[in-house]
This record gives sequence, C-alpha cells and structure tokens, in this order.
Amino acid sequence: MPIALTVNGSAAGLLSDERRKLVEDLRARGIHDPRVLSAIASIPRERFLDRTFTPRAYEDSALPIGEGQTISQPYTVAYQTQTLELKPDEKVLEIGTGSGYQTAVLAALGVRVFTIERHVTLLEQARKRLESLGFHRIISRAGDGSRGWPEYAPFDAILVTAGAPDVPESLVKQLSPGGGRMVIPIGGQRNQKMYCVTKNGEELKAIELADFAFVPLIGKEGW
Ligand code: SAM
Repeated sequence: MPIALTVNGSAAGLLSDERRKLVEDLRARGIHDPRVLSAIASIPRERFLDRTFTPRAYEDSALPIGEGQTISQPYTVAYQTQTLELKPDEKVLEIGTGSGYQTAVLAALGVRVFTIERHVTLLEQARKRLESLGFHRIISRAGDGSRGWPEYAPFDAILVTAGAPDVPESLVKQLSPGGGRMVIPIGGQRNQKMYCVTKNGEELKAIELADFAFVPLIGKEGW
C-alpha cells in the first residue's frame, strides 16, 4: 500500500500500523523478549532512512543508507539484541553505527551505549537522528571498531553489525570477564553464521547460532 511522504496525521498513522504489523511478524519469527519488541514498536524506523525509502521503512529488509552500507533488517536487529539478554544500565559497545537504528533500539532498553562507525558521514547523520529522537546519552566516535574502544572497557556486551573473518582479539579482551556476551557474525564477506561468545573469568564459550548476511567488517581485525 503506498504511503504519503508527508508526516501528517494520516501518514504517521499508516506507518504506525505498519510498525505494529512488523512487531507481530517478528514475534511470529521467534522474537519473544517483550522489551525488544516494545523497543522496536517505539522507534520510527523511517527516521533512519532517506525519505525515498519511507514507504519501505517497515519491510523486514535491509535498505541502503549511503557509502555502500545498509540499515540492518529489523529481524536481524531484534535477533542480535535479544541474544544479548541485556539488563538496564549495562555497558554495551556497538561496532558499526550505520544509520543509528540498532543504536536507538539498544538505548531504548536503558543500557549505556557506546558506538563506533568507520564512515564519518554516516556517523554524523546517525548522531543527528538520535539526538532529534531524544537519545542524548549515547557515546559515539568515528574509527575502526574492530579494535574496540579500550578507554571504556570492559563492556557487559558487544554487538557487531558487520561480518568478520574471525572474532577480533581486541573485542574479546574488552569483554567483561564477569559474564560478558558478544554477538558477532563470522564467516565470508557476504554470508556469515551468527555467534554468541560469552566470557567468564578466563573461560570463553562460542555458540553457533543461525545464518545471516552482513556487509563486511573493514579494519585491522576485520577484512
Ligand atoms: N546497525 C546498523 C544499522 O541498523 O543501521 C547496521 C549498519 S551496517 C549493516 C554495518 C556498518 O558497519 C556499516 O555502517 C559499516 O560502515 C560499519 N563498519 C564496517 N566495518 C567497521 C569497522 N571496522 N568499524 C566501525 N564500523 C564499521
């Protein structure tokens, strides 16, 4: 159904109907954490996209955001977030800010978000969007996130939104030894398997989850 681009009452109404439907579809696909579903329900995904993509904002698909990058598919955002089992006030490092949509979902859960993006233009756009939506506590920088952010480590959780050839050693080091969790796609440059890595003291455990397709993690400990 076509959606008017103007943000007037009826267009916003159509979009929020589509958002509700997206949330129901995510629930049907196995996203069961009510906090994740309500974060997705509360965030206007169209605000993280160029206006030409407004009619497609609630499709469950990745969409272009410039610099050859994409906003992640809502299912992927929900899946990675749910996998981390976050608690309020935990410190979370996100690698690959992109549009800022995943960042907003994390912030809506009440965690302290640190996010890194290698494309300065994308980071600046994301910062503006997040500020305009009232997310003022997010700490962000431009740079190579494959090396993490040692100044703020350790992190209770790390969420990597780009596909890596292997788990970056720097990220493992910066994960909290008291039950830190990292969710990261590992594999080739186009297709990867999602892994959840947990750290307890010196012990590391990696669980293989499902197949995904991310853009590559470019950097010293990436591609
Ligand atoms: N969560 C984002 C969203 O919903 O918009 C996903 C963005 S996209 C799938 C992955 C992002 O990771 C891209 O913006 C890309 O530039 C970024 N990226 C790739 N390698 C990176 C690195 N080493 N450090 C920081 N960002 C990186």
